[in-house]
Amino acid sequence: MCVFLMDEKSQAREVLKSLAETVAEAASYLRELGVDSLEGLTPSTAEPKPREEHHAPKPSALSPALKRHANVERPATPAKPSPPTPPLSNKANEPPPSLYQTAMPKKPVRKPSPDPPAPRETLFGDITPKDELSLGQPGETFEDIRADIGECVRCPLHQGRNTIVHTEGDPKARLLFVGEAPGADEDATGRPFVGRAGQLLNKIIEAIGLKREDVLIGNVNRCRPPANRTPTTEEARTCKPFLLREINIARPDVIVVLGNTAMKNLLDTKEGITRLRGEFQDYKGIKVMPTFHPAYLLRDPSKKREVWDDMKKVRDYLNSTKK
Ligand code: URA
Repeated sequence: MCVFLMDEKSQAREVLKSLAETVAEAASYLRELGVDSLEGLTPSTAEPKPREEHHAPKPSALSPALKRHANVERPATPAKPSPPTPPLSNKANEPPPSLYQTAMPKKPVRKPSPDPPAPRETLFGDITPKDELSLGQPGETFEDIRADIGECVRCPLHQGRNTIVHTEGDPKARLLFVGEAPGADEDATGRPFVGRAGQLLNKIIEAIGLKREDVLIGNVNRCRPPANRTPTTEEARTCKPFLLREINIARPDVIVVLGNTAMKNLLDTKEGITRLRGEFQDYKGIKVMPTFHPAYLLRDPSKKREVWDDMKKVRDYLNSTKK
């Protein structure tokens, strides 16, 4: 019994001795690293360093003594404070909890930064988004817009064009026709609707008692797309503001949009021409009549009947609002 007690006592002494050596070795290693005192490094008092500097030394960089104690497979998060110390004989190879705490101080809890103060909207005056019509200058003319367009390279269509095809006609006209984009004849002459579709358009205009010179004729896009393809949404979006500025100057009583593409681009709608044609739509207080494109009528003359119905509505509206 006595021998047994003696044995346990000397065992405990050995363990304590080894622990003391380990601590001394660890302290000397820390000094090597430039850490003179463990004081001030405990999580409660340590000034948190920038994130990158918080990593504990890699196990490979540890002193032999610390290597013995550092559990390489230990999860990244430091152990919570140890439960009440179990018997020394089982824990002799584990470091005191304070060593872990010293090497890996807890991450400081970052307080969320307070919301920035709400901007005072009236401080520098109210700023409201410009709508497309306000892009132009007050008092501007069609010539100003042409000058602004210049030798336009704003979209890829400039690469294949010969001539920019501007809106043509009387800026005081009560009726504006809007097509999609110039074709080969228009690209060659610089005038809108002068090919076969244009000749049919002239007849449509005359059928309601007007002449080409009495109306305005233009397109959403002013450059001919390669192989007469439909202009992309982006190409239409790039060119459309110039037409909108002209509409703002002319303020016609009626706009006739010719075909699906022109209609969708002007009215910003996803509806198709078959659905909307024949019924007046609205563009910023201006009546808009969608109807089939003359080029479509050349391919399918049976559709002329619908266009004639639509144009009669336009004629009647213009006559009923004549000053
Ligand atoms: N088609 C159009 O849409 N516009 C023209 O100018 C000519 C043909």
